[in-house]
Amino acid sequence: MITFDTLGLAKPVARGVASAGYEKPTPIQATAIPVALDGRDLFGSAQTGTGKTAAFVLPLLDRLVRGHRPDKNRRRKVRALVVVPTRELALQVDESVRKYAKHTGIKCLSVFGGTGMFQQIKRLRQGVDVLVATPGRLLDHMERGNARLGDVEVLVLDEADRMLDMGFIPDIKKIVASTPRERQTMFFSATMPQAIKKLASSILSDPEFIEVGERRSPAKTVKQRVCAVKQENKMALLTHLLKSEPIENVIVFSRTKHRADRIARRLSKSGFATAVLHSNRTQGQREHAIKGFRRGKYQIMVATNIAARGIDIDNISHVINYDTPEQPEEYIHRIGRTGRAESQGDAITFVGEGEITYQKNIERHAKKRLKHFEVEGITEMRGHPITIEPKSVRGGGKKKRYGGKSKGSGGGSRPYRGRKGGHGRKKKSNNVSPKFAS
Ligand code: AMP
Repeated sequence: MITFDTLGLAKPVARGVASAGYEKPTPIQATAIPVALDGRDLFGSAQTGTGKTAAFVLPLLDRLVRGHRPDKNRRRKVRALVVVPTRELALQVDESVRKYAKHTGIKCLSVFGGTGMFQQIKRLRQGVDVLVATPGRLLDHMERGNARLGDVEVLVLDEADRMLDMGFIPDIKKIVASTPRERQTMFFSATMPQAIKKLASSILSDPEFIEVGERRSPAKTVKQRVCAVKQENKMALLTHLLKSEPIENVIVFSRTKHRADRIARRLSKSGFATAVLHSNRTQGQREHAIKGFRRGKYQIMVATNIAARGIDIDNISHVINYDTPEQPEEYIHRIGRTGRAESQGDAITFVGEGEITYQKNIERHAKKRLKHFEVEGITEMRGHPITIEPKSVRGGGKKKRYGGKSKGSGGGSRPYRGRKGGHGRKKKSNNVSPKFAS
C-alpha cells in the first residue's frame, strides 16, 4: 500500500502533509506524485474533489525544497507557476500551498483580477517562490514588468477545460511562451475536448497520462435525485427541502446572477442564514461569503456556476441545482462540491419546463437514470404528480394538472413526469434540521 512515507517526499513537505492530518494519499496522489517526483510531465484527468491539488502541489514543493537554495540576500524568483481559471480557485490553491509549505520557508502569492494591483505589485517585488494566478491578471503583471517567468521550473495548468470555456487559451499560450522550455509541466482537465488535447500536446513533453475516476460519473458517495417541478414552484420546493431534509449546509446553484440574488433575498427573508456568490459581487463580498459559509455562519450559499467553480469547502451535505445545468460536465462539477474526500453527499436537481432536455443529456452522459422524487402540494396533488410541459411547445396541448390523466393532451406535447420506473418515490423525511427550522 502506498503511504505518504513511501512516496519519499522531502522532510519539510512531509511535515506539511502530516499537519494537514492526511493519513494516506488519495488515488490521484498515489499515482501522480511518484511520476511528478521523477520530473516527468503530467496530463491529469481527474474529477473535482479527488485530492488533485495536493497531487501537484506536493511534488512542486518537493522540487523547490530540494533545488538550489536561493541566496538569502537576493530576491526570490518565481520558480513555480500555477495558472487557474478563477479567483476562487486561485485562493483555494494558494491556501493549499501555504498549508503544505508551512515548514518549508517557501513563499506563495496569488494574483487575480477584480482586486487592486498595488498590493500584488508590492508583494511581487518583495519576491515569491510560488505564484498562483488567473491568466488575465498575470499577463497584466507580465506586461508591466512586475512578474517575470524566466526562472519557472514547474508550470501547472489547472482546470484547463474551464480556461478553454472562458476564452483564456490565447492568454495561456502567451504565458507558457514566457516560461523556459526546460521546465516540468503538469496539465489538469476534467474533460478532454479536442482543443484541450491539442493545447496539451503543444505544451507537454512526453507526458504521463493519468486518469482517476470515471469522468462520466461523480463520486460514488454522492446520492443523486431529481424533481420535476414547475418553475413557479421551485422556491416552494427549495424551502420545503431546507426544512425537511437533514441539511447541514448547502450550495444552491442558480443559472443567473439575478436569480441567485432573488433566491438569496427570499431565503434570508424566510430566516435562513444565506450568502450569495457571483461575479458581480466584489472580491471582499465573495471572500466574506466563502469564509462565512466555511465557518458555518451561513448554512446556505446561493451561487452561479463560474463563481462556485473553485470553492473548496469540506463536508457540504447538499448541493441543490435550482436550475438544471445545461452541460453534463457542469452537472458533475457542481455536484462534485459534495461527497468530497469520501464523505457522504446529497445532490438534488430541479427540472423545470425548459430543462427536460438538459436532464436527459445528463442521464445519457452518466448512462443511468436519476432517481425521481415528489413532494405533496408542490410537485404532486393528492398523490398525482403535477405535469410540467416542455417549454418549446407553445400554445400546443392544453396543460393538465394531473400527470395520471395527461396522456394525449394534444398538440404533440408529452407532459413530463420524469421516469419513475423502478426508482420508487421518495419517502418524505420529517427529519427537520434544527439549523433550518424557521
Ligand atoms: P481537491 O480535489 O484538491 O479539491 O481536494 C478535495 C479535498 O480533499 C480538499 O478539501 C483536501 O483538503 C482534501 N484532501 C486532499 N488530499 C487528501 C488526503 N490525502 N486525505 C484526506 N483529505 C484529502
